[in-house]
Amino acid sequence: TLTSKAAVITGSTSGIGLAIARGLAKEGANIVLNGLGDEAEIEKTRAGIESEFGVKAVYSPANMLKADEIEEMVRLGERTFGSVDILVNNAGIQFVSPVEDFPVEKWDQIIAINLTSAFHAIRAAVPGMKARGWGRIINTASAHSLVASPFKSAYVAAKHGIAGLTKTVALEVATHGITVNCISPGYVWTPLVERQIPDTMKARGLTKEQVINDVLLEAQPTKQFVTVDQVAGLAVFLCSDAASQMSGANLSMDGGWTAK
Ligand code: NAD
Repeated sequence: TLTSKAAVITGSTSGIGLAIARGLAKEGANIVLNGLGDEAEIEKTRAGIESEFGVKAVYSPANMLKADEIEEMVRLGERTFGSVDILVNNAGIQFVSPVEDFPVEKWDQIIAINLTSAFHAIRAAVPGMKARGWGRIINTASAHSLVASPFKSAYVAAKHGIAGLTKTVALEVATHGITVNCISPGYVWTPLVERQIPDTMKARGLTKEQVINDVLLEAQPTKQFVTVDQVAGLAVFLCSDAASQMSGANLSMDGGWTAK
């Protein structure tokens, strides 16, 4: 049980991050939600977590492009709950384009949101975790932290980067009761995947059905999407005592994709 622990989950207004926030709340953790979206929707999500799981949840509007806002998100957790024990760096965006046409500002945004934001959150949260001698840092990487796909240069670069950051920080904090791991899902059916279908149709000249079956599920030997709740289950496990000797690992949940 995670009662008396507090968790910050970036990008938790949607998709995988929201499922992880709900999974940790179910175990009794207090929650700092973060992410973009409609204010009323987010408030509904926040209040829903409190009433469904009997924990406290606050919302941080921190933009993952801004170092000072990321630091303030961690401080909000520490002020509200007395600690940030669990940090899940999950916020992420995707953009699909041939490298020579890749918009420079999209490259910069993807590196900032998918990689650099984790660095800022980690450096803000680690001193408190060290002081208390306990911490769990979980980064949402991707199968694209291990292998590449064409037209995703920024995303693949950022995800390989976060796998390296995970290993490095794991070594630095290993004697402080803090574990650092990343989870590498294959294709999970979320708004992020749905949104890239039109661009992939354009980049490869395919229909929607062809993109789903011949590009996305083609990668996954099981021919099924991963679910957000399955990813959340692994995140919850990583916070348990059973996982206290797992650190620096890159854990695949990809229907066999990276075994090929
Ligand atoms: P999603 O679009 O449903 O959620 C992304 C979250 O990040 C949202 O809450 C969004 O508001 C937030 N976000 C985006 N830009 C932000 C910013 N500037 N500041 C703060 N928050 C911001 O997508 P998802 O599929 O749940 O993705 C979550 C993570 O999982 C990402 O890191 C993604 O790369 C990774 N991932 C997803 C898949 C997949 O197939 N869906 C596979 C592997 C890895």
